[in-house]
Amino acid sequence: MSRLLVRNGTVVDPSQGIHRVMDVLVENGRVAEVRARIDAGDAEVVEAAGFHVAPGFIDIHTHLREPGGEGSETIETGTRAAAAGGFTRIYCMPNTTPVCDSETGVQYVISRAASHGCINVVPVASITKGMLGEELTNFGRLMGCGAGAFSDDGRPVMNAEIMRRALEYTKLLGVPLFEHCEDMNLTAEGHMNEGVVSARLGIKGIPRVSESVMVSRNCALAAATGGHLHVCHVSTRESVHAIREARRNGVRVTAEVSPHHLTMTEDAVLGYNTNAKMKPPLCEKADRDALIEALEDGTIDCIATDHAPHSSQAKDNVFDAAPFGIIGLETAFPVLYTTFVTTKRWTLDFLVEKMTTAPAKVMNADWGTLRPGTQADFSIIELGEPARFERRHIFSKSINSPWIGATMKARIAATFVNGLQVFQHPDVVLAGAGTCEKLAANGTAKPKARKGAKA
Ligand SMILES: [Zn+2]
Ligand SMILES: [Zn+2]
Repeated sequence: MSRLLVRNGTVVDPSQGIHRVMDVLVENGRVAEVRARIDAGDAEVVEAAGFHVAPGFIDIHTHLREPGGEGSETIETGTRAAAAGGFTRIYCMPNTTPVCDSETGVQYVISRAASHGCINVVPVASITKGMLGEELTNFGRLMGCGAGAFSDDGRPVMNAEIMRRALEYTKLLGVPLFEHCEDMNLTAEGHMNEGVVSARLGIKGIPRVSESVMVSRNCALAAATGGHLHVCHVSTRESVHAIREARRNGVRVTAEVSPHHLTMTEDAVLGYNTNAKMKPPLCEKADRDALIEALEDGTIDCIATDHAPHSSQAKDNVFDAAPFGIIGLETAFPVLYTTFVTTKRWTLDFLVEKMTTAPAKVMNADWGTLRPGTQADFSIIELGEPARFERRHIFSKSINSPWIGATMKARIAATFVNGLQVFQHPDVVLAGAGTCEKLAANGTAKPKARKGAKA
């Protein structure tokens, strides 16, 4: 039997209401016990005194780019970036080449994640064939081979009749429909939020109503069908209002918000910074404030990164020609901790909940906990010490992050999946940890099983 004891860390597990110094014992990849002073016996010991121990984060919105976009990310590099951010389970979007719209596509992601990934990966299959918005995929069959949800993310389902039928089918199957809400006729050739800043910069704007009009339409369709609509990356106050109204009326709608929409505004685009270009675009301070309040009052359920890798070649371009999106796995927790927890707006427990049990609940799953018997997926976190986030801390194949050079007051020291260490921060010393090979940024080192553990 393989045994691992994480000793004297401050365990933060909102699912059990735990926030105190405790030991965590892992046996054969599962949490065996969480309590004060557990006898180590023959277990390997990781000394976590002074560190925090949290359930692994869950991201229900990432882009891994494989197959077809291996120049900007692969399942191997994307899962390593996730592990470096404390994530142990991610849902990857189907807008690859080819689109993940077939059983072969779903099986490919699952088998590559098993052979090359270091964390749990759940494929999201597309709603429509080729994400063309015309013909539904075979939801039942795709779920049968492992698809965890459906989305045409990157493109909206413009046809309301297709959307209605998609909600009806997913209702029968009991899965949410992740919808990227955008009216493409309104966004047209826009590149940033339409307003004072876009006018000053001379960049064609995207009106905020392009999102909220689709949120409202989709909430109406969810109301009519009883299907579960999950709104991706909410970005405007009008969308928040529409979701709040729908929930008040009993509509089955959930929503996520990204770290960048919670922490940045359109002002980040001043200077034509292409790492402030994303869809939906960064909006005004009033939008950002509405998103924060919505997460706090439960209108928005959880945080999701929308990690969107793009090569430097593509991003080092004039603003109008650069692609939309930024990476976000490595920085999600440190950025949100620094912005909201050190300023005392949020408790650490609130932030951990929004990145663990909250996204799990959207999926009707009970992940994101250190409850005994569950798979031992967790991270060890260093809090309080200011440290610069540098390019060498990026494990993604792409570096399109607006946070390079920023000072953050949290670092993921180590991440464990199934009781095996899959990440060790290069600058943080953790006695007993580090049996995985040194994971050099953008290198090819693969995590190794801990001594005596089954791989
Ligand atoms: Zn999207
Ligand atoms: Zn996305």
